[in-house]
Amino acid sequence: MFRVLACNRSLAIRRRLATYAAASPTRHDWSREEIQQVFDAPLMDLVFQAASVHRKHQPANKIQLCTLMNIKTGGCTEDCSYCSQSSRYTTPTKASRLVDIEPVIKEARKAKENGSTRFCMGAAWRDLAGRKSGFERILEMVREVRGMGMEVCTTLGMLSPDQARQLKEAGLTAYNHNLDTSREFYPQVITTRSYDERLSTIEAVRDAGISVCSGGILGLGETDADRVGLIWQVANFPEHPESFPVNALVPIAGTPLEKNEPVSYHTLVRTIATARVVLPTTIIRLAAGRNSMQESEQAMCFMAGANAIFTGEQMLTTPCSPWDEDKAMMDRWGLEGMQSFQQLNVARKEQLVPADGV
Ligand code: SF4
Repeated sequence: MFRVLACNRSLAIRRRLATYAAASPTRHDWSREEIQQVFDAPLMDLVFQAASVHRKHQPANKIQLCTLMNIKTGGCTEDCSYCSQSSRYTTPTKASRLVDIEPVIKEARKAKENGSTRFCMGAAWRDLAGRKSGFERILEMVREVRGMGMEVCTTLGMLSPDQARQLKEAGLTAYNHNLDTSREFYPQVITTRSYDERLSTIEAVRDAGISVCSGGILGLGETDADRVGLIWQVANFPEHPESFPVNALVPIAGTPLEKNEPVSYHTLVRTIATARVVLPTTIIRLAAGRNSMQESEQAMCFMAGANAIFTGEQMLTTPCSPWDEDKAMMDRWGLEGMQSFQQLNVARKEQLVPADGV
């Protein structure tokens, strides 16, 4: 009797997953319970369905290669408890000033020559208030990198609608502003910036016509319900974010989370696969923590729907896998680098294809 019930339950889960796989690409009415059911499915079934969704909505052998550059390091007034750049913690990261334009151009050129099609610039500060000349310099960086034909992304803290508009005019493709975790767990991670302030910045970015890159970090001490809560939050945006980074915490000495246990690999895969099922046209970005993973573990993440990596010399403050190693790995698995603006919903936003173009 027990076996019959268990078998029926498993069949019901598979049927439900298959329904989600066949669903419209951009559902905005996901309930938390539905996403929790996806998350809790047997892992092999979940990965299979995520891979099916991936193949239905995106070219599954394409991986976006992105390179990150820290254009202003450390000295940040915020208290994000995972971050080595917060001035509230004593960490190995030293504060520096905003870099000049020339080194950025040099790094972006190197990234492009090595096959990266997206170049992301990060500045460690709360917002752009009182940084008029710095913002002008960043706008020029954006113009230069976009002029190379690359997708250009920035992460500069909180933005006003007017600042978002100026970044769009300069040619910004995407803006990264992670929600980090669920609304409920967030206050245990950051107290100096509210969840709603984060949502306001994301709204300003979206309203300016810039692609949204917003995801989270696993290993902060959150539960599965918080991981589901994060995915639920972005799934119910008026437009799904074009990019959803999944970071595994790299604990940094001196931060409040320095002794956190690493998140289990299976939880990482489960989170990626769930995000893929719920966000079919989004790029799922396998971000911090990747360089400590085995190649076969990374391959399973790609099977589960991850389709972007950071590659090059350095993440913002943690190590990164170099281009040649990543290219060799991708060759072994039959994966190829994505072209700039190959992601359809980004190309639409850039008006490179008609709004209903395929
Ligand atoms: S994550 Fe960003 S905002 Fe938070 S402390 Fe680090 S640099 Fe500052």
